[in-house]
Parts: sequence; structure tokens; C-alpha cells
Amino acid sequence: MDKDSKIFVTGHRGMVGSALARRLRAAGYTSILTADRSDLDLLDSRSVHEFLAHEKPHYLFIAAAKVGGIQANNLQRADFIYQNLMIEANLIHGAHLAGVQRLMFLGSSCIYPRDCPQPIKEEYLLTGLLEQTNEPYAIAKIAGIKLAESYNRQYGRQYVSVMPTNLYGPNDNYDLASSHVLPALLRKAHEAKLRGDKECVVWGSGAPRREFLYVDDLADACVHLMERDYDGDLVNIGTGEDVTIRELAEMVMATVGFEGRIVFDLSKPDGTPRKLLDVGRLEALGWCARTPLSEGLRLAYEAAPFRY
Ligand code: GDP
Repeated sequence: MDKDSKIFVTGHRGMVGSALARRLRAAGYTSILTADRSDLDLLDSRSVHEFLAHEKPHYLFIAAAKVGGIQANNLQRADFIYQNLMIEANLIHGAHLAGVQRLMFLGSSCIYPRDCPQPIKEEYLLTGLLEQTNEPYAIAKIAGIKLAESYNRQYGRQYVSVMPTNLYGPNDNYDLASSHVLPALLRKAHEAKLRGDKECVVWGSGAPRREFLYVDDLADACVHLMERDYDGDLVNIGTGEDVTIRELAEMVMATVGFEGRIVFDLSKPDGTPRKLLDVGRLEALGWCARTPLSEGLRLAYEAAPFRY
């Protein structure tokens, strides 16, 4: 990527897109293109195709998506599959029509089979059944990977897919009904501390294991791959380490300074028992995560909007 290449970052108001734009600016890229929702509806094919044909970016990062935690995925099933299919199909096909040669599509670790061996290698994709709570979202993201791959095979494009693990950091979603576990626990612990509660409720059994990556590390990995013109197969992006939800809850309580008890609400689903990515492919490409979970939690808590 040249420093004056036109780089279109979709989803720039979200946690991932904003981190990408921040990382690119910090690295000296001067022509970063973004589009507000009010100016460009990513669900509308014609608008997206026209926008791309007019702007002709050199690079495109697809960080725009409808995302959410276990409850939102489970309840808004139609919205998750429909919106994600439309966003990625409009952007990938539109990019091809506009002659955009390079793009990066961001998926998610939930695309892998629910019960696949751990840590999860990229080649386990489509080797088994998916987790039910987020199957519609996962199917949409798998379709996005296959879209990108198909344009590469048929038209010689260089459309790369990366699969981040669970992310957290500035601009995360802290709405308790739709957020992921880490931001939810930061907020719950903070509010419990302010109220002087004796207990803080954590969903499920606390036994599932999850891997957490600080979003600035993700952005760094994405830019690393683009800068090296990586155009190979799917790449996982994670830390290579996981914790139980109970351990995460304890770390969050320590970060926030909540001294009460953790109680588990067994009426809420556990979801996938374990989701740890194998990051061998990424390491072979010269990248590994930098921010330890304890440090990332501190940074995320400092930036959390519910504190201000
Ligand atoms: P997942 O990785 O797709 O399962 O999504 P989440 O990040 O939403 O949930 C991960 C795990 O954390 C699940 O086992 C949840 O039941 C558990 N969890 C515990 N407390 C919470 C909470 O307050 N919110 C959410 N979203 N998950 C929680």
C-alpha cells in the first residue's frame, strides 16, 4: 500500500472500523475514505455499486457488519443473516465491478464448527455443524468468505478473508442486551460497584472458554497483512490463549475494583464450549498479538463510555 493509496474503511463508526482507521492514520496513510450510514446504505446494492464505481478505492476493508453477543444473535436471527449477506455481497460484487483489486473481508471465529478440535485451524471450516445460537450470522460470514474466494478464482482478484477471535476495546457495544461478554461484564461490574451491590450476575455456567483480542492489535494485524500484499487463504487473528468465562469475570472484577461475589445465571445459554484459534498461519506471516488481557481490560475500562 502506498501512503497515498485510497483506502475505503467500511464500518468506521464501529469498534473494528474505527480501530482500522486509527491504525492507518497513525501509519501515515493520507487518503482514508469512510461513508456515514446516512450517506451510504450498505444494504442497498445500487447505492453501494455506484459509490464504489465513483470512488474507485485502491483498497477496501469490510469491517461493516451487523454484530452482537449471544443473545442478540440468537433472537434477531433474520436480521443477522439478511443484513450481513447484503452488506458483503454488495461490497464484494461492487468492488469487483469497480475494478477494486484488493480487499479484506473480516469474518468471525464463530464460522467454525461448534465441536471442532482446539485450537481451531483455518482448514476446519465446513467440517461440521455450527453452534445454534449464532448459526445465521455464521452462515452469512461463511458466504462472505466463499464470495471473496470465488472472485479470486474466477476473476483473479486478491480478496483476503481474516477471522478475528472475540474482540474488545474502544467503541465497543456496551448495551447489555446485545453486547458480547467482555463489555457486558465491564459495565455490570462498574454499575454493581457504584450501587454497592454484593453480587454481580454472569450468564451461563462460567465454564465456556473464550479468547479475547484487543481491537488495536486486530487492526495492526490487518494492516500488516495488507502492507505485505498477502493474498493467500483465510487467516485466523487471535492471541492463541483463552480463559474461562469465570476467569474473565474475576479479571474484570479486579480491573473495575468490584469486591462482591460473582453469581452464575444458569437460565442463560453457554453457547460454544470453547473457541480458541490456532494462530500458526498468522505467526508464520510475521505477526503476533501484543496486548495482554489484563492490560487490554484496563485500556477498555478507561475508554468505556458508561463511566463518563
Ligand atoms: P459468544 O462468544 O458468541 O458465545 O458470545 P458472547 O460473548 O455473548 O458470550 C460468551 C459467553 O459469555 C457465553 O457463555 C455467555 O453466556 C457468557 N456470558 C456471561 N455473562 C454474559 C453477559 O453478561 N453478556 C453476554 N453477552 N455473555 C455473557
